[in-house]
Amino acid sequence: MFVPRAGLETLKPYSIEEINWSVRLDANERPTDLPPAVKARVIEKLSALPFNRYPEISAQSLKETIAAGFNVTAANVIIGSGSSEGLFALCYAYGGAGRSIVYPTPSFSMYGIYAKLADSRPVPVELNSDYTLDADKLLAAAKQAEANVILLCNPNNPTGTVIPSEQIEYIAANARCLVVVDEAYHEFYGQSSVNLLNKYPHVVIARTFSKAYGLAAARVGYLLAHEDIIKTIGKVLLPYNVNALTLVTAETVYQLRREFAAGIAEIVREREKLAAALNAVPGMEVFPSQSNFLLVRTSSAAALVARLRARGVGVRDFSAAPGLTNCIRITVGTPEENALVMEVVTA
Ligand SMILES: *Cc1c(COP(=O)(O)O)cnc(C)c1O
Repeated sequence: MFVPRAGLETLKPYSIEEINWSVRLDANERPTDLPPAVKARVIEKLSALPFNRYPEISAQSLKETIAAGFNVTAANVIIGSGSSEGLFALCYAYGGAGRSIVYPTPSFSMYGIYAKLADSRPVPVELNSDYTLDADKLLAAAKQAEANVILLCNPNNPTGTVIPSEQIEYIAANARCLVVVDEAYHEFYGQSSVNLLNKYPHVVIARTFSKAYGLAAARVGYLLAHEDIIKTIGKVLLPYNVNALTLVTAETVYQLRREFAAGIAEIVREREKLAAALNAVPGMEVFPSQSNFLLVRTSSAAALVARLRARGVGVRDFSAAPGLTNCIRITVGTPEENALVMEVVTA
């Protein structure tokens, strides 16, 4: 029935099982709704919003609020409907036919899809067996492919492992293309490559409100970069790409971001507790994580996923994914949810 554009035949629709688990540990979300004081403020702001009006054309107010938090200007910020939209727009703007986008694997599965949607060649570079990165191997692959973009995820989804700051700077110093650092889980790690923005005009940082800040429902994220890069990416995004409800919500959350510190600290404590408990289970290996999830390897991965599901616990099964044989990814939940995971694992 009519022929779609070339290249789409190789893409499968993004599908994750949409099951309403009573315990949702499959999407790296914040396990609870917004802190009540923050939610009350958001509702108050939303109730004063004129729903009949288009949003601000370029999300200026949220850009300025975020820029102030990083000591940059609004010209260094672009807002997306999720950081996904920003990352996709970047790949579209800097990719294209005959161009390459390089990224480590296993990493965020969307990177290869952004590359393909941008008509570019995806060039995945395998991580070491312990999921650390060989920076020279990545740079060599980028050089050979004459890459236009390198995408790094730090901490890395789905492994939870990190690329040390010095290694990211080494890549930035030696790459001849854009170097994007996707810091979706940065709040659980504490370290960032934002400081590289001043020194390297080809570095881009991606952040999201979907994880630590509990706004997965609102779809909002941003990129920080040199203003020329931001201008170029802006050409790709459609006007009013982020709706006014989301802009108001994100701005309120950003202003009140200190209210999230205790929740983030609790996730980090729970992560360490859960990692230690899982590691103590014979036959189970937990990779060191600086994020809000744990990658666990066990020869009985499929059976464990089934047992968790039988108790209403949804986790992400990567056991058949390349480079992730026998692995499952478990989002760190509330203390009660994590206790339930351990009960099922040790039953
Ligand atoms: C969750 C996630 C994002 C953010 O996605 P949003 O579109 O902002 O919800 C980006 N990168 C990685 C690696 C993620 O895991």
